[in-house]
Amino acid sequence: MKITHASTALASLPHDEPLADGPTTPGSKNFIALKFGTDAGVEGIGFTFFGGSLDRALLTAVTDLAELCKGEDPLRIEHITAKLRASSPGGPGGILTLAMSAIDIALWDIKGKVYNQPVATLAGGHRNTVDTYASGALMRHFPLDHVVKAAALLKSRGFRQMKTQLALPGDTHQVKEIERIRLIREAIGYETDLMCDINQRWDVRQAIAIGKQVDPYRLFWLEDVTTCDDYAGLAAITQALDTPVACGEYLYGIAPFRQMLEARSVDIVMIDVLRAGGITQWLKIAGMAEAFNLPVVSHLAPEIHVHLVSAVPNGLTVEYMPWSSRLFREVVQPKDGKLTVPQKPGLGLEFDPKVVQFK
Ligand SMILES: [Mg+2]
Repeated sequence: MKITHASTALASLPHDEPLADGPTTPGSKNFIALKFGTDAGVEGIGFTFFGGSLDRALLTAVTDLAELCKGEDPLRIEHITAKLRASSPGGPGGILTLAMSAIDIALWDIKGKVYNQPVATLAGGHRNTVDTYASGALMRHFPLDHVVKAAALLKSRGFRQMKTQLALPGDTHQVKEIERIRLIREAIGYETDLMCDINQRWDVRQAIAIGKQVDPYRLFWLEDVTTCDDYAGLAAITQALDTPVACGEYLYGIAPFRQMLEARSVDIVMIDVLRAGGITQWLKIAGMAEAFNLPVVSHLAPEIHVHLVSAVPNGLTVEYMPWSSRLFREVVQPKDGKLTVPQKPGLGLEFDPKVVQFK
């Protein structure tokens, strides 16, 4: 079997908040969609995302790398990966890895269709349902009164886990930060898991000082409490706090995870399939975390991560942040705090032609 066709498209989606009817943030979220065709008639789809001013550069990167895949056997994924890496010896920087992720995901979709199995089964098939948490509904730039009501609404809609953010924008201080967590916790009780993302906005001293005051609210995790590659600083925070610390979404490729794990920097390893280099690399990172006796969780792209987090024995929960959902005709929906693994071959996804328009 050989890859014969490659099509790419940039798809713009509104930056709205459907999970708890939150405010729409100005601007759009731009995704790069990829479709491979083969001489066997099997198609595979993938996508990637930068989320900034380089969306068109990423579209070009995916288009040019996809061209290099023509004539290759789509089941020889590591062979194709090696060829693409060799084609851009200045890598493995950000845009190359993001582009290669779209390709790797599409190759896994083909593999699933060839073997008539969902990607989740090919990747390990550990369980058929997986926990999921609501993300994006309790953002730091949303007003406090909205966030408190939205947290209760998410619970009433069946979510058993949800994530908020601290390191508030503008004029903030520790008392205001802690009060926000207290009010959200009060709205949902202690039976609902609550995560909190800092997005690297604290220094190590702040993370320990504020984190200790957050400990009594028994968060499920505190995420990206400081700069993502300050492995020693992260380890100091992880040691100091009772609350588990999660980190990893900002790391590219697999090697930084080795450094993070060796430094015992975190309690929970977060992996983004788009920044890891695709499904192949995601699974390698999950294996490294397993060897360190640590669970893994996902970042963005729940349509893909439902396959991966469910597949591995140390998969903990899937971030349900539906930014990319509208790219597809149909996506997995959370029910009673869980996602059921799709059983169609491959990823079980089809682009919505109204949203993704290949030239
Ligand atoms: Mg995060």
